[in-house]
Amino acid sequence: MLLNFSKYQAMKTNLKLISLFILTLVLSSTATARNEQTLRIVRGKTDTVFTQSHFITGATVPGSAIYINDLPVKQYSTGSFGTELMLNEGDNEITVKSVRGTTEEIIKFSVYYKKANPQQRAEPVADYPNPVVKTKKGAYLNYGAGEDRLGGAKINFLAEGIKLELIDSVNNLYKVRLSESSYAYIPKQFVERVPLGVKPPFSLTSSWSVSNAGKADRIRISLQERQPYIIYRESDPNRLMVEIHGAACNSNWITQYLDLKAVDYVHFRQTSPDVFTAIIYLKDKFSWGYSVDYAGNSLDITIKHTPAPTLKGMVIGVDAGHGGSATGAVSTAGLREKDFNLTMAFMLKEELEKRGARVVMSRSEDIDVSMQERVDIFKNANVDLVVSVHCNAGGHPLREMGTSTYYRHIEYRPLALTVLKRLLELNVKNFGLIGNFNFALNAPTEFPSVLVEALFMSSLPEEELLASSKFQKDMMIKVVRGLEDYLNDVKKSLK
Ligand SMILES: [Zn+2]
Repeated sequence: MLLNFSKYQAMKTNLKLISLFILTLVLSSTATARNEQTLRIVRGKTDTVFTQSHFITGATVPGSAIYINDLPVKQYSTGSFGTELMLNEGDNEITVKSVRGTTEEIIKFSVYYKKANPQQRAEPVADYPNPVVKTKKGAYLNYGAGEDRLGGAKINFLAEGIKLELIDSVNNLYKVRLSESSYAYIPKQFVERVPLGVKPPFSLTSSWSVSNAGKADRIRISLQERQPYIIYRESDPNRLMVEIHGAACNSNWITQYLDLKAVDYVHFRQTSPDVFTAIIYLKDKFSWGYSVDYAGNSLDITIKHTPAPTLKGMVIGVDAGHGGSATGAVSTAGLREKDFNLTMAFMLKEELEKRGARVVMSRSEDIDVSMQERVDIFKNANVDLVVSVHCNAGGHPLREMGTSTYYRHIEYRPLALTVLKRLLELNVKNFGLIGNFNFALNAPTEFPSVLVEALFMSSLPEEELLASSKFQKDMMIKVVRGLEDYLNDVKKSLK
């Protein structure tokens, strides 16, 4: 850049003037500092607060000693200082003091801490006209009032303490409202009535967090009350949908950490004025289980990480059907299903252990174990996968009926399929791959599961096969091969 001489001179003069002006400012402010307040409170001078933890920040001349309520507080080189106080209920006197040489400054103020009362936030129990029930442990929703041997078609389990408006009563079920335009059925034994006048819940959603909780990713959505929900897995796109009924979006903050293993990202949609749908996009094609529960009024969705896809080191739940007073099917020769199931379960255990898996059995002797106990055993052991062993009955007594496998949730269909394909290598008939099967051990979403109905007790040619321990063993080896095929598919799907 070129400047002509006179312009250059003028600039120089200007610069001199500006410097002089700044110097004057600095001098004049230093001169008056002695008498002026330099201590300032920036944050924390609040009349009334509702949280016990209270931050105070401020600033003064660097190099001062700062005391808040007589306790020394760190001052940064910028002059700033700050502390967190735990307030007492009611009035809290706060004294901030700065000392520098002989100069001492003090600021006093008080903060009133009013403890938030959760009861006060709820709507007044007034005059809600319809009766309301509240869920107990083990509650689940059904689509309809239909019944079959294993009960009606289930939607999903519901956590405890969720209030639902009661619409109707059908046999042993209540028809309950989930939101303005949707309802479901719930077994009466899993709910209790709440006093008349209590309103069904409604929440505005607030912040979410999505984090890695060790062996699973966890999505936590804060709500004002425990709302009912419907959760389901979709494979294309690969995602988990969580419809929260009686909720409207007020979330402006979704914290997503970068160390997530199961969750790709999350999103949401207000699908109707009172249904908020959380959409959880997943990284892996194969599902290893998920669960939903409430922690306070926060909805927690936990999605398991994909384990190393090999039997070595895996924890497998093996369930021998029936037992004790529950005989299961009895063959023409008087052989009992419960005995076959247990023998085959032990064979399966042995084959799995040979390959380095750890096996958890739901029963290892001839005893009664309820379905709920079996589910609890596997949930508590945090199994990676469950195989239930049964034998079938019914149909033609003189013909071979065949082998079959069963799943309940669509995401576990591939597992039932690979096991069935291997069983068919034994040249037995194909009774089928059966989906949406309402078997209690297929119901949990916490782990992949497959039910194997080896052959038919009631078919004479199959009774003969089942009575052969060599054939029993062959079948269980095929089941293990089916699991290995499944794990290979999982491995291939991982990039
Ligand atoms: Zn059975």
